[in-house]
Order: sequence, then C-alpha cells, then structure tokens
Amino acid sequence: MSPEILRGVPLAEYTTFRIGGPARFLAIPSTVGELAGLVRWAHQEGVPLLLLGGGSNILVGDGGFPGLVVVTRGLVDVEIEGDRIRSRGGVFLGLLSAMALRAGLSGLEPLGGIPGTLGGALLMNAGAYGRFLGEMVEEVEVLVDGEVEALKGGEVEWGYRWSSLRGYTVVGATLRLVPGEIETIREEMARYSRLRRQKQPLDFPSAGSVFKNPPGESAGRLIEEAGFKGARVGDAMVSPVHANFIINLGRARARDVRTLVALVKEGVREEFSILLEEEIVYAGVFEAGEDEDRPPAGRTIVGEGGIPQNG
Ligand SMILES: Cc1cc2nc3c(=O)[nH]c(=O)nc-3n(C[C@H](O)[C@H](O)[C@H](O)COP(=O)(O)OP(=O)(O)OC[C@H]3O[C@@H](n4cnc5c(N)ncnc54)[C@H](O)[C@@H]3O)c2cc1C
Repeated sequence: MSPEILRGVPLAEYTTFRIGGPARFLAIPSTVGELAGLVRWAHQEGVPLLLLGGGSNILVGDGGFPGLVVVTRGLVDVEIEGDRIRSRGGVFLGLLSAMALRAGLSGLEPLGGIPGTLGGALLMNAGAYGRFLGEMVEEVEVLVDGEVEALKGGEVEWGYRWSSLRGYTVVGATLRLVPGEIETIREEMARYSRLRRQKQPLDFPSAGSVFKNPPGESAGRLIEEAGFKGARVGDAMVSPVHANFIINLGRARARDVRTLVALVKEGVREEFSILLEEEIVYAGVFEAGEDEDRPPAGRTIVGEGGIPQNG
C-alpha cells in the first residue's frame, strides 16, 4: 500500500520554528518500500523533493514547498544487539538515547536533547558538548536507484555540522556504542539536559543555533557583542538567552527570520570582519523583499540535503 499523499499541508506544522507555507504534496511513509516509491515517483515526474525529519534545523519559506515533502518520522524501527543500535532514519535522537540507556549503552548522552531524527542528524553531523554523531556510526543505509545500499561510517566524510551524505536519501544507520553503567548514563543524560535548559531558550519555537561557530570563535558571543541580543523583526527575535538562537515569538514569518539573519550577518561583519555562515538549511519559496541577499522573487531554494539525487 502506498501512503496517502496530502495537499497543501502547512509546513509550519512540521518544523520546530513553526514557520513555513504549504507543501504542494506531503507524504509520511512508514516503510522503506514506501519511501523508495515516493522518491522514485518524484524523480519520474520531475517534482522537487524535500526530505523532512524533525524539521528542527530548517527554515521553510512563506511560499511553501512546490513539490513533494516526505516526512520521515514514520520510519521508526530500532534493533539493539550487543553494543550496536540499528535504527531507521525517522527515529528521534531523544528516543534513541532513551533506548540506549535502557540497554546500558553509552555515547548518545550529550546528543539525546537534540530535537531531530537520526536521518537529519546524520546529514548535519549533529553534535553537542564535544561529541558528534558521525563518530558513532558503523554503517549508514541510503537509497541508490531505489535500492538500499550500505556505506561504512569511515567512507562518509564527517565535518562540522556537515556530512558527505548530502544528496542521499538516508534510510537508517547502525551506531556502535560502548557498554556502561545504567545509573552513570542516566546521570550524564540528566546533566546534559540541565545544561541545555540553562543555556537554551527552549520555551519558544526555534531551529537551534542559526549560525555555525567560526573557527576558534563562538557565533553567539560575536552576535551578542555586536549588540544583537533581543533584536527583533516582526515576531522573529534574537534570543535574549542565547544570541545564536532566533526565536519565534508567535507569528514570525520566514521573511522576518531572513531579514534578521541578514542584519545580524551584516552587523557581525562590520564589527569583527567575520562573515557568519548559516547552520540552518533553507527550503522552499521565499518571497520578495526579505533581505538583501535573498534569491530573486519567486525563485525556489531547496536545502542542499533535500534533493536526493541518488534516490
Ligand atoms: C532547541 C534546539 C536545539 C538544538 N541543539 C542542537 C545541538 O546541540 N547540536 C546540533 O547539531 N543541532 C542542534 N539543533 C539542530 C537540529 O536539531 C539538528 O541539526 C538535527 O540533527 C536536525 O535533524 P532533523 O531530523 O530535525 O532534520 P531536518 O531539520 O528535518 O532536516 C535537516 C536537513 O537534513 C535533511 N534530511 C532530514 N532527514 C533526511 C533523511 N532521512 N535523508 C536525507 N536527508 C534528510 C533535510 O532535507 C534537511 O536538509 C537544535 C535544534 C533545536 C530546535
């Protein structure tokens, strides 16, 4: 059976920013076969394709996405054997780290608070507190011409908030963890969760850190020292708690976020001669008048990771 294809679903419902216009088509596959079928259909029909996991690192334009959005969170099987966890790409890191805890496996404690799926986290090589996902990966499963193929963890390049998996449809992965004491793992998870609650504005929708840290620098510190803490465009605001977060106070639009991003970049460049680079991914149609480095009106921008050329 193929999954229902919905039309016109607001993507704000599927992003942690709570921003984003409608998807022309949206489907939530629950098997790898369904995922492969959807990817094949999009390719055959020449329909732009966007894979969406937790939607926690993405800004979707107010004009929505003019193609098929495949939401991966229905792909949720997990198997644990010895020190290995084999999981589908739609499983949230919070659930994976809770399962690792129950199995007495250590490694995911710093990453459990990241509100994304395994697939999105592999694409972004998500990391926190000195650890990153790529270092735990034994194997990644991707779609190549509709078939599942395995890549060894060592064959993938793992950069800072970047991996060479961009362009692939990630089906799942096997992580190799380290056996540990359940109580110690539990305490570590609680400690990291406290740190997050202290340092991050978790009461408002956001997409986490907007900018990558430049080498040897903290983007948050640069933004704060350039005077942007609390700066606001519409309902988009540079968080007064953590300057590298832009929060949605309620009715922020993508264009507000883009304008604020452009202002912050310009301010930091003037103050420190450093050009900040976005960590968040842009996808969909952005409207005219958003900011000076916006694409021409009506042009579609798709997050690089969102076009699985090898699917
Ligand atoms: C409050 C908060 C705190 C955060 N803290 C951290 C942190 O500490 N460290 C960190 O690294 N990040 C952090 N993030 C950012 C984000 O959670 C991570 O980047 C996360 O890994 C993104 O996963 P996702 O499933 O939400 O991806 P999405 O946002 O859905 O997608 C991100 C990119 O991956 C692509 N993609 C998603 N799934 C697949 C797939 N199966 N196959 C191919 N491509 C795919 C998308 O097309 C897109 O290009 C935070 C975000 C928030 C809101």
